[in-house]
Amino acid sequence: MDKIVSLCKRRGFIFPGSEIYGGLANTWDYGPLGVELKNNIERLWWKFFVHDRLDMVGLDAAILMNPKVWKASGHVDSFNDAMVDCKNCKSRHRADHLIEDAVPGVKVEGIAPEDLDKLMQENAVVCPKCGAKNFTGARRFNLLFQTNIGPVEKNAEPVYLRGELAQAMFVDFKSILETSRKKLPFGIAQSGKVFRNEITPGNFVFRTLEFDLMEFEYFIRAEEWEKCFEYWLQKMQEVSKAFCMWTMMKVNVREKRRLLSA
Ligand SMILES: [Zn+2]
Repeated sequence: MDKIVSLCKRRGFIFPGSEIYGGLANTWDYGPLGVELKNNIERLWWKFFVHDRLDMVGLDAAILMNPKVWKASGHVDSFNDAMVDCKNCKSRHRADHLIEDAVPGVKVEGIAPEDLDKLMQENAVVCPKCGAKNFTGARRFNLLFQTNIGPVEKNAEPVYLRGELAQAMFVDFKSILETSRKKLPFGIAQSGKVFRNEITPGNFVFRTLEFDLMEFEYFIRAEEWEKCFEYWLQKMQEVSKAFCMWTMMKVNVREKRRLLSA
């Protein structure tokens, strides 16, 4: 991984964020080549799923939404991870990751913090950093990034930076249905930045606090779900093939040009 990170930096693809001010952990800036690569992927995705189809429309919704949206979607109450701190070396960990690493095959999603503590003790989970077995109790930590609207923070109502793209597609569904003259089945697509207050980010651009998603919601009649499922399964297999081939073709064309001009 270190090799890839340093190659990306040297070639102008990805730089560590805020670097000359000492950096800000887990933020990355896409440089001149990186932004072109990222935009190419996004444009290809948009062409494939939106422009080349009659049953898909696009949306670019606000990142800030009424907090009621995130309450209704369940994110305010349950979009969370349980974290524990190692009292010995002060490192912070996700309790579910520690347990899943120690006990292969176990699934702990949705388990209460007390039960996570029990599982950690029963399985003698140790700190991956220092090897100690001295953890704080597990506690829930919401992944939504909270901010405030208005100049006086104390009195301002908290709002959230979106943690997913889907919500606006549901919230705007009626407006889109009325203005786009689409009939079921049809889809709404969106791409853009989302934000998650991850407890243990890291691993280069593979787990960050802000990242780009490309996503669509496809609306169908309930009785047609099996037909639609089969259709989209096949389509997704085509897409993944097409994306790889497209990348390889680009590389091949460039490589040929390079050889020809050499
Ligand atoms: Zn430790």
